[in-house]
Amino acid sequence: MNHAQLTALGRALRVLGEHGEALSAETPDARLHEVKDDLRRALDLLEESVTTAAPSTRCAEHPTGPVDESAPDLCLLCETRRRAARRAEFNGPAPASRPAERPESRYGVRGDRPQPQQRWLPEAWNGQAWQLCGTPRRDRREAELFIAAQRRGSRPAMAYRIVHEFTDYEVLRVWGTPVRVDIEPMGNL
Ligand SMILES: [Zn+2]
Repeated sequence: MNHAQLTALGRALRVLGEHGEALSAETPDARLHEVKDDLRRALDLLEESVTTAAPSTRCAEHPTGPVDESAPDLCLLCETRRRAARRAEFNGPAPASRPAERPESRYGVRGDRPQPQQRWLPEAWNGQAWQLCGTPRRDRREAELFIAAQRRGSRPAMAYRIVHEFTDYEVLRVWGTPVRVDIEPMGNL
């Protein structure tokens, strides 16, 4: 915005402010038409002053890029890049030479995993928040079996989910519907 635009826009906006101050039930229609014209003028001035598109994401690198609603910064480009990086880390490099005699294990072989610290966290909805409900597992299937057992138990929670703990957290699957409920009064304990 240059100085002339700034001056003109400032004046137009102040005029609108005055219209607002003077507005009452008795304001005649002729006056309202004037307000409309002044509003339009201010809008035109704004249109001229703003040369860039409104930001669609919170990403500093791609403020007007495509949107991914599930990304923390709403940036599809960066989220795609992050996902690819996660996947690459998760899958690890292509196995070069895999000994044929190694037995297949349901739980995977530790040596196959480039990032052995990854864990699957079973969580239950306690009516207020997601809460860890069992030991974090090194294997997703094991965590799912644990949740299946919990759901068959005598007092299952409203909902369960598994969270993949790695370089960040990613919800992989949700069972049930987490609904926020009021905390039970102490008398009910
Ligand atoms: Zn971005």
